[in-house]
Formats: sequence, structure tokens, C-alpha cells
Amino acid sequence: MAYAMVAGKAGNSKVFEKQEIKLTKPKKGEVLIRHTAIGVNFIDIYQRTGLYPAPGGFPAILGGEGAGVVEAVGKGVTGLKVGERIAYTQPGGAYASHRNIAADRVIKIPEGVSDEVAAAAMLKGLTAHYLIHDCYKAKKGDTVLVHAAAGGVGLILGQWLADKGVAAIGTAGGKEKCKLAKRNGFTHVIDYRSEDFVAKVMRITKKQGVAAVYDSVGKDTYPGSLQVLRKFGMFVSFGQSSGVVTDFKLADLAANGCLFTTRPSLFPYIDTRKELVRRSRQLMDMIASGKIKIQVNQTFPLLKITQAHNALEGRKTTGQTVLIP
Ligand code: NDP
Repeated sequence: MAYAMVAGKAGNSKVFEKQEIKLTKPKKGEVLIRHTAIGVNFIDIYQRTGLYPAPGGFPAILGGEGAGVVEAVGKGVTGLKVGERIAYTQPGGAYASHRNIAADRVIKIPEGVSDEVAAAAMLKGLTAHYLIHDCYKAKKGDTVLVHAAAGGVGLILGQWLADKGVAAIGTAGGKEKCKLAKRNGFTHVIDYRSEDFVAKVMRITKKQGVAAVYDSVGKDTYPGSLQVLRKFGMFVSFGQSSGVVTDFKLADLAANGCLFTTRPSLFPYIDTRKELVRRSRQLMDMIASGKIKIQVNQTFPLLKITQAHNALEGRKTTGQTVLIP
């Protein structure tokens, strides 16, 4: 039976219910995918709680990344065959055993990359890609700061920045998370639950500050993030796991050294087929070559989606979290 875990309305992690779904033939330009693995992302929590709109509105099938096998091919699709392994990231629709999806939004999973890894890497890995290649182009010799360094996006950023010769300082909650971040490319780690990260970053950088801050924590970290930037530094605010930043003022940029800022999201960076393919290729090459290790540290059956959300929301996870239908 094909099924989805449907969120009937915005709310807590208990809103999910298993519902049978009727499989329809893929339309022109679409393929039918049978999911073998589905990535869980913090953005799913924002959508579940109503902080971000649920794609398509409620009742909603949430979930923004997945991998699996092509089961049927619609008219006009070229280059994809039944039985091939594919992966994608797209807002909504992934918390299901099957779905139809536009063929031009999927990529083939390369040899040597497992379905679980691909499902965990598409949204988080492509995010890491645009953050360090577009929002602030991190280069050898730079020192940057990454918050939530032991998280899904965080561990990928640490490894990718290390590969580029960038000194990355990572913050994480607790000793174990700090140790994990240190093993994954971060040159320095700070337990921001017990240490003052501003003072420590200024000590590490000999009062110079960092070239960029990649801040996905938001409310709790953002004032400090501005303080640790060097003159003309770049504040990249790409999430708010601790709560929304509500009191940011343009004048804060002047007061902290003529800073620059951006509040990006992934999808405009991959909205053309060309960009999706270019960025995915670079990501998959980094994974297949072993330069980036995707760490699926939590796996749950799709039916246990509530537990997966509780773990991620409760700061109990490290690296990537995957659901198996
Ligand atoms: P993570 O695995 O990083 O999980 C979030 C982490 O945030 C937690 O593990 C926790 O780490 C930290 N955190 C700090 N304060 C809190 C709090 N009050 N409640 C919960 N967690 C908190 O998630 P993802 O890798 O899925 O996503 C990371 C961030 O990146 C999210 O904010 C997400 O929305 C954002 N994102 C943005 C995208 C974009 O394009 N703009 C795309 C993808 C993700 P610790 O215990 O170490 O503090």
C-alpha cells in the first residue's frame, strides 16, 4: 500500500497521521519514485509548526528531500528509466512511500553513494554549497564562524571549508557535539551553551574577528554574530532554530564595522536545471571522493516521524537524520 504521513494542521509533532495515497500515473514530464530514504530537515519543523507556510497548505505532506527508485516514467521524459536510483530536494511531498515528481528536478545517484546518503545530502549539502560559494565565497586563509556545527548542515560545512583551507570555528551545544565538530573539519570549537562564544572567537582571532558568520540559530546567536565579524565582514543568516530574529536593524551593520548581510534560502540557487545539476555534481563528487562524509546518525521508520521531529527539535541529533518507508 502506498502511504504518506500527513500533517492535518499546524501543530506539535503529534499532528502526523498515516494515510493511504492513491498512486496516479506520472504526468507528462514526471516520474513516479518509490522512496527508499527521506531526509529530515529543520525546515520541516518550521513548516509543521506554521512558522513557514506548509507547501500547498494543510493538510500537508511535508519533507523536502528524498531518494529512491524510478517506478514509472511519464511522457516526454528522456534520460531516466524504470529501476534507476534518483534523488531530489523540493519543498514538501517527501514524507510518503511514493510520489510523482518533475523529472527535471531529480538527479541520478552516482555509483558508490547510497540512497540514505543521497536523501540526507540533497537539501543540506546543496545549502552548504551555496553558502560557501555564493553568500560568502570562503577562501584559503579566511577564518569564519559556523553555528550549530554538529548539525546536519553544520557537519557538511565543516568538512567542505576544511577542504578549501578555510579555518572554521564551530559552535555546538555540549562536549560531545563539540568533539564531533572537531573531528569534521572545524579548527576550533566552542560550547556555546557553557562558554561566551563572542569572547572566545575574539581570543582565537586575536581580536581581528571573522570574515563571515554562517548563522542558522538566529535569535540566541545573532547579536553575538555581529560582534565577532571583522570590518566589512559578511553576516549570513540562513535559519532560526532558536527562534526568529525580530529586532535586527540596518544600523546594527554600521555599528559593528560596516558589515554586509544576506538572508538566503536554497531554492532560488537551484531554480534552473543547469544550476541544480552543476551544484549537485560538485556535491556528489565531494561525497563520492570521500572528502565529505555524510553522517546519517539517526534513522527512523517513516511511521515514527513524530520521534524524528522530537529528536531534531529537542537538540538530540547530530549530523543527518533519515526516515525509511
Ligand atoms: P540541525 O541538525 O543543525 O539542527 C538544528 C540545531 O540547531 C540543533 O541540533 C541545535 O544544535 C541547534 N539549536 C540551537 N538552539 C536551538 C533551539 N533552541 N532549539 C533547537 N535547536 C537549536 O538542522 P538542519 O541541518 O536541518 O538545519 C540547520 C539550520 O539550517 C536550520 O536553522 C535550518 O532551518 C537552516 N537551513 C536553511 C536553509 C536555507 O537555505 N536558508 C536550508 C537548509 C537548512 P546544538 O545543540 O549544537 O545547539
